[in-house]
Amino acid sequence: MPLIQCPDCGKEVSDNAPACPNCGKPFSTVKIEEKKALVTRREGGKYEAWGFFLIVIGIFCFFGKGIYVPIGFILGLVGFIVFLIGRFK
Ligand SMILES: [Zn+2]
Repeated sequence: MPLIQCPDCGKEVSDNAPACPNCGKPFSTVKIEEKKALVTRREGGKYEAWGFFLIVIGIFCFFGKGIYVPIGFILGLVGFIVFLIGRFK
């Protein structure tokens, strides 16, 4: 668990704490906003990872034979769309 320094009393506090347990100073909302942004980014990253995964499988199928070629094409296409959803999420 990473520690941050309280800007008021200088005591080291867990960065998960909403306020300093020593002096009671509530920590800036900027940090909470940052965390929110991080969570959103992680959510998008999940889609990106899935999209990438599907594209890789799609490419492998695409270089296969017969029925695997259209399947690979569809997987790659779906993966690309999922990847884009992750990008703009
Ligand atoms: Zn403090």
